[in-house]
Amino acid sequence: MNKKEVYLYNKNVNKNSDFIMWMAFPGIYSFSMSSLGYLWMYKIIDEADNVNIERICSDTSNTKYKISDVNLFGFSFSFDMDFLTIFSMLEKYNIPLESKDRDDFPLIFAGGPVVSANPEPYKDFFDFFIIGDGEDINLEVVKICKASQNKQEALKKLSEINGVYVPKYAQKVKKLTKKLTECIYTPVLSENAFFKNTFILEMARGCANRCGFCLASYLNLPLRTVPYEELIKTIELGLSHTNKIALLGAQISAHPHFHDVCKYIYEKINNGQNVEMSVSSLRVDAITPEVIKTLVAAGQKNTTLAIEAGSERLRRVINKNLTESQIFNAVKIAKENGLKGLKFYGMIGLPSETDDDINALIELGKKLKSLYKGFDIAFGFSSFVPKPNTPFQWCGREKTKQLEAKAEFLKKEFHKLGITVHISSIKWDYWQAVLSRGDGSLGKFILEVYKQGGKLGAFKSAAKKFNIDTDYFACTDYEFAQKLPWDFIEIKPGKEFLIKENQRLLNQV
Ligand code: SF4
Repeated sequence: MNKKEVYLYNKNVNKNSDFIMWMAFPGIYSFSMSSLGYLWMYKIIDEADNVNIERICSDTSNTKYKISDVNLFGFSFSFDMDFLTIFSMLEKYNIPLESKDRDDFPLIFAGGPVVSANPEPYKDFFDFFIIGDGEDINLEVVKICKASQNKQEALKKLSEINGVYVPKYAQKVKKLTKKLTECIYTPVLSENAFFKNTFILEMARGCANRCGFCLASYLNLPLRTVPYEELIKTIELGLSHTNKIALLGAQISAHPHFHDVCKYIYEKINNGQNVEMSVSSLRVDAITPEVIKTLVAAGQKNTTLAIEAGSERLRRVINKNLTESQIFNAVKIAKENGLKGLKFYGMIGLPSETDDDINALIELGKKLKSLYKGFDIAFGFSSFVPKPNTPFQWCGREKTKQLEAKAEFLKKEFHKLGITVHISSIKWDYWQAVLSRGDGSLGKFILEVYKQGGKLGAFKSAAKKFNIDTDYFACTDYEFAQKLPWDFIEIKPGKEFLIKENQRLLNQV
């Protein structure tokens, strides 16, 4: 055990099962220690008697168990580009990348939002995938693998349970959705975590707002919130080990008790307790003096507001439904109650976007700058990436050249206003879109990208080598009647609803 780690549950250090699982994080140790879902899965399996589990990261040098003794090797897969690190980790342990070249254990699998939404581009490399919330199924997976004589027997049995996709059997899969009766939290704290010694807890899963592009919302419907008593119990557990807590959730301010939680923390601080609290981005309409006062008292200086688009029209199209006066009101409250600045997050290239919508961003920046002098205003943008299982899954993204021109224009105009702006790489967003709507034919392409070093040039050259029309995946508008690679995943709400929602949103004026 790493000396700098503190376990918040009763760790059975004398466990001695003959079944060994590696749970891998495709990134360095410090990032893994701030990954709530990854650490929580680890806790669940670690608490079971019948399996020994070890965490593995991209910078792990010594392992407790030898790869030859490992039965199951699972990867957390949260970002499209994670495959690059996953491949290098497999190679580090001399494991063939393609599942067809692996005859025996360990079984290699992945879970997480990327593969839950669309595992098809990666199906040549993993023996199976967990689709949806994995908390309840991991132990069943262990049980099945343990009881199986060989890989084939295990995969056959796994293909018969809900929430597991075994590409070899190409079966229909039902996405798993967990009821949130308990609060999940980071069960291990570390000084070496990216967010040092920070206790992260999940207040809510999903988001009821259903923005047309948002995978975090659609993949996790319905919105589930943790009961208030459970939240307070968990906050107390965290504060008995550290003074730093972070509240997590796609839309925590939608929690019916979000304000009560803020009040609870605020009173602690008022009573002299040293508590530092941070929150993931807030919705503009959730900003109240009490919330801001709590954040400021708990040490937060800035926060991010996701406005997504510059004009009210485009915000209606994406279902954000936020008025300009709501934005100004939020900034006023933030400033008056002690925040030093706000970062506005948005997207360019959203379906139906016109030059007027881009100009509206500049206008918004101008107004904010003149109304709130001395307040630190910054903007951050990424470009639209169509995501499976959302109403905008049929919408192709704009061509890279057009998006780059928009990005340059915004940079120049915001610079003139003296506003800091950060825009994600349009080229990387393009390749994300290719993978996001990709199908099983991309396996050889993915492998080649990795072999060529995984940089932007490698994507381009691999596509050329196999003559893949990558614009088809990233930029083409699809027909509703068209079969989509991820249609085999049964997810609620279904395709009918997504079609209606797509039509409703894109008909907004
Ligand atoms: S409010 Fe945020 S989390 Fe919720 S659906 Fe919209 S973009 Fe997604």
